[in-house]
Amino acid sequence: MSGSLLVDNIGELVTNGAGEGPLGIRRNAAVLVEEGRVVWVGPSAYAPAADHHVDAGGAAVLPGFVDSHAHLVFAGDRAAEFAARMAGQPYTGGGIRTTVGATRAATDEELRATVRRLRGEALRQGTTTMEIKSGYGLTVADEARSLRIAAETSTETTFLGAHVVPAEYADRPDDYVGLVCGPMLAAAAPYAKWIDVFCERGAFDVDHARAILACGRAAGLGVRLHANQLGPGPGVQLGVELDAASVDHCTHLSDADVAALADTAHSDGSGTRTVATLLPGAEFSTRSPYPDARRLLDAGVTVALATDCNPGSSYTSSMPFCVALAVREMRMTPAEAVWAATAGGARALRRDDIGVLTPGARADLVVLDAPSYLHLAYRPGVPLIRQVIRNGVPQ
Ligand SMILES: [Zn+2]
Repeated sequence: MSGSLLVDNIGELVTNGAGEGPLGIRRNAAVLVEEGRVVWVGPSAYAPAADHHVDAGGAAVLPGFVDSHAHLVFAGDRAAEFAARMAGQPYTGGGIRTTVGATRAATDEELRATVRRLRGEALRQGTTTMEIKSGYGLTVADEARSLRIAAETSTETTFLGAHVVPAEYADRPDDYVGLVCGPMLAAAAPYAKWIDVFCERGAFDVDHARAILACGRAAGLGVRLHANQLGPGPGVQLGVELDAASVDHCTHLSDADVAALADTAHSDGSGTRTVATLLPGAEFSTRSPYPDARRLLDAGVTVALATDCNPGSSYTSSMPFCVALAVREMRMTPAEAVWAATAGGARALRRDDIGVLTPGARADLVVLDAPSYLHLAYRPGVPLIRQVIRNGVPQ
């Protein structure tokens, strides 16, 4: 779309910048967009003229959701495993290998179709930025093609060759770590921005995780990791040690873990350098206790919300669903949850051009079918996304 775009008659605009309260709310506002960027935010009554026009009709508008944790490159589904879990079987992470088998057997076109389907599904629910991980290939060729396909859809791509140790390396995990750090990283790095490790009992221990993340960092990738999901462990503190942008899950934290995250606070009061990304869809889908968001927030830790969209432990692409869960089950206020799903996700990706609606930001806007952001948690399960504008383009 060429020319400027004006979104006006916004009853409640969430800017995550200057304005009322923690969400920087402005009433009766308008946003002017040029060349994919926000160039002006102000009162609707004083809005400049533009080439194109969207009338929000008094509804709420917020920044597009930033989903900083998703596993979209896979084949098959694990509905039967979900049913078994709901009938009482515990979640161990072992089902990942089922998806690895299906993913290796799939064609590029099948994998690409799944990524596009899920990305489209998320976009219709207001997600304008979505991180995508590899991690179901676990061979040099399959990890490289997973990331190549992910990179067709997102610039936020993550190499997760260290998701689990594949069956063929079960009795020699050191050799698998050598493969991940050597040829697999070399093949994956051209398509990846980040490196991630599933640091958990039954996946990778702290020494293996440290070695893999250090190799990735040396290859120019940013660090993030799956930590403290299924039980207490060293993952969160390893993330802090390695200046991870985000430690994800954070379901089982010690006081020392929370303190280590809080110690990464920026001196200007803008939050912590390492973000705690909470993934309540995983606890929902594994019927597990939720992380204690309140404890992290009260300690001053920056919190993000993401879907963890994957076929095993959290097969949702819906950020509004995660916002509702965070409010109802994790004692976050609606404002904290909406911030965590937008600006928080941006922080977890070390981005300052998304998750906000201030001049200079990327023009990613969501128009709700509701007068306030409060309705995202107040009306769970209801399709409240009326319109999505991504990069200045109405979708
Ligand atoms: Zn995950």
